[in-house]
Amino acid sequence: MTSFEDLGLPTYLLKAVKALGYDVPTPIQLRAIPLVTAGGDLVAEAETGSGKTAAFVLPILKKINEGRGDTDLASVQVVTLVPTRELALQVSQVFKRLGQFSPTGVRVLAVIGGLAIEDQIVALEKGVTVVVATPGRLLDLVDRGVIDLEHVHTLVLDEADKLLDVGFTEELSTFLEGMPSRRQTLLFSATLPPQVVDLGERILRNHSLVRLAERHAPVANVTQRVFQVDRNRRRALLQLLIEQEDWAQTLVFVATQIASINLAQKLRKSGHAAVSLHGGLTQDDRIQALKRFKSGRAAILVATDIAARGIDIPQLAVAVNYDLPRSPHDYVHRIGRTGRAGASGIAVSFVDHETEAHFRVIEKKNHFRLERQQIPGFELTEAPKEPRRGSPPKKGKRRSKKDKLRTSQS
Ligand code: AMP
Repeated sequence: MTSFEDLGLPTYLLKAVKALGYDVPTPIQLRAIPLVTAGGDLVAEAETGSGKTAAFVLPILKKINEGRGDTDLASVQVVTLVPTRELALQVSQVFKRLGQFSPTGVRVLAVIGGLAIEDQIVALEKGVTVVVATPGRLLDLVDRGVIDLEHVHTLVLDEADKLLDVGFTEELSTFLEGMPSRRQTLLFSATLPPQVVDLGERILRNHSLVRLAERHAPVANVTQRVFQVDRNRRRALLQLLIEQEDWAQTLVFVATQIASINLAQKLRKSGHAAVSLHGGLTQDDRIQALKRFKSGRAAILVATDIAARGIDIPQLAVAVNYDLPRSPHDYVHRIGRTGRAGASGIAVSFVDHETEAHFRVIEKKNHFRLERQQIPGFELTEAPKEPRRGSPPKKGKRRSKKDKLRTSQS
């Protein structure tokens, strides 16, 4: 079985798949679609970039159109929970695009914070078939009694490991109380740590498990490069690389909101079309920033992890770890944004004396070891002489203002 036709998808879905330019199913789609179609519960270990979204959206759309949920399209039949607003918008887009030729008009709504709740209430009153939600806003709607989960036949937890990171267990219990216990539950997660397995045990019934041998596949077609460079020379090196290597669509990861704002600003001053994306922006500003980047009007997106999580930019060429990610797993997540669905990408990391040890941990946990490079003119200097700005002065080394005053008076 290798084609979408072989997966037994109806023509209106095959047409949509073709319209989106998917030629052949990805491994996760090949494995998951038959299992979901058969109606059982599922745990799937699949990363962003593996094609996991279509792996659940396609069989769910088939189920809705066949009326197997036995409910009308104006009541909520499917709830997909996701950890971030961006991912909610993206997944709801996939539902809409893949559902565009459905004989029954499937109505999809993204239920997320940052957008007016009143609009979402109005949409729900008119009738919605599929809800793609972040837990907080969905809870708000449940608490207000404006969403009815009684007819939900399918529940999807997308990026379940990240959902647990944002602490959604309490909300989940409330949602489950409102849903029929006879439902299909699908859990997708990039990794399967014990907490995720426990969650699966608690809420799924006789589920199948899909783990792909090639789970690091998105990394396989990404060229990883590591540059040793002083912290205060990173921006200059970044600009040099962008210009010399003609990078298109570059996603630069930084550790903080401030860094995201500052770096984007400085890059703009140097003539680069850069935008900043971080959790402090309003939802509208986030959407605008992403739009500018996706359309190519901005070639560089400077983002924090949380803001960038789950965003899907098909033509992303380069991901830069300007600041290293805290967890080794996030490293894979970050670089998995390039080289998606078969395309090749570049992932660049900057390391210095202080971050070298942390990068080694990242390498060890992910079972690889990368060669360090230095670019002439940007060589790493000896270990820092001055304490880094922001780090506390070492006790006994620096004299306090009071001490200085005393000396000058003596
Ligand atoms: P996902 O892992 O769901 O975030 O999907 C990653 C990217 O792969 C998205 O840009 C999808 O549009 C794309 N994609 C999904 N399935 C396929 C497929 N069968 N062939 C080509 N691209 C795909």
